[in-house]
Amino acid sequence: MLTPTADLLNQASVAGFHCVTLSTPLPVGDVNVYLVDGDPVTLIDCGPRAPITRLALERGLAALGRSLHDIKLLLLTHQHLDHHGLAADFVHEFGPEVGCLDLLASYLERWPTTCAADEDYRAARMRRHGAPDAVLSAFMARAASRIAAADPITVDRRVADGDVIDLGRIRLRVVHRPGHSPTDTLFYDEDAGVAVVGDHLLMRISSNPLLALGTNSSPHFRPLREYRASLARTRAAPFRLLLTGHGVPVGNHVDLIDRRLAQQTERSAAIVEGLGRESRQTAWEIALALFGSETATKVPLLCFSEAIAHLELLEDEGQVAREGLDPIRFVRA
Ligand SMILES: [Zn+2]
Repeated sequence: MLTPTADLLNQASVAGFHCVTLSTPLPVGDVNVYLVDGDPVTLIDCGPRAPITRLALERGLAALGRSLHDIKLLLLTHQHLDHHGLAADFVHEFGPEVGCLDLLASYLERWPTTCAADEDYRAARMRRHGAPDAVLSAFMARAASRIAAADPITVDRRVADGDVIDLGRIRLRVVHRPGHSPTDTLFYDEDAGVAVVGDHLLMRISSNPLLALGTNSSPHFRPLREYRASLARTRAAPFRLLLTGHGVPVGNHVDLIDRRLAQQTERSAAIVEGLGRESRQTAWEIALALFGSETATKVPLLCFSEAIAHLELLEDEGQVAREGLDPIRFVRA
């Protein structure tokens, strides 16, 4: 008898989607990519640029009777390095076509400018919201290595939300679900009810609504507001199986989304509670209170993104207001 996870992965394989789990040297750990038995043979995401990742990809494909030579189309789910960093090397050596959402294409074709602009924007937001200089300089030092960890790629197939990518017996609907990043894309086989979802929804951890620059069509990206709207749309869709970018697949997305929405509501309540009646706190101080100073100092962007995303939502709801400019502080409204 198969475990529930093995059973879901087996169902995915029957539908033509094969999970390859790649080791990475990044703090995030393993990343999942998917070989799709279509015409052309397709890979969804390729992992970061690192020797152990590349080796894992070659071995994973070999176990499926394939090699990098066989991949004729590379589809990408979103703009984060752990999902696409290897793409430029892969295209250079093996020449697959690359396909992704038009917004993502604009981002990846202009790397490193786009990535650097994102990192500058994040540092500026953290500074305005009270993050100390030492945290910011360590963040910018790590940002420089993130910017250097990929090269620009040319995207052959720019697709838009709602388009269909025809892979012969498999047809993938392109579904834009911003929130975790502005470019999050699901590739959805409507006949099988199977979708590859990147980091839009993960089984064991909540997807961070990461601070990011917006796009031309939506310049001020409000991660949590967008993410909650995207989750509501995903909740309403008849998915049978979601194949995730990290960890195990999701078989019952409605229950998981309800749990995630409830956790967000709890976190918002904890922030309002922590603000008390009289206190004025920066978003950085709120991040410290939520996650502790060790974690906030180690992964400041994750912790700060979480705090500021909830504060923006609470502002929209009229529960908190901001005061001052340098730094900005929040009070109960
Ligand atoms: Zn991501």
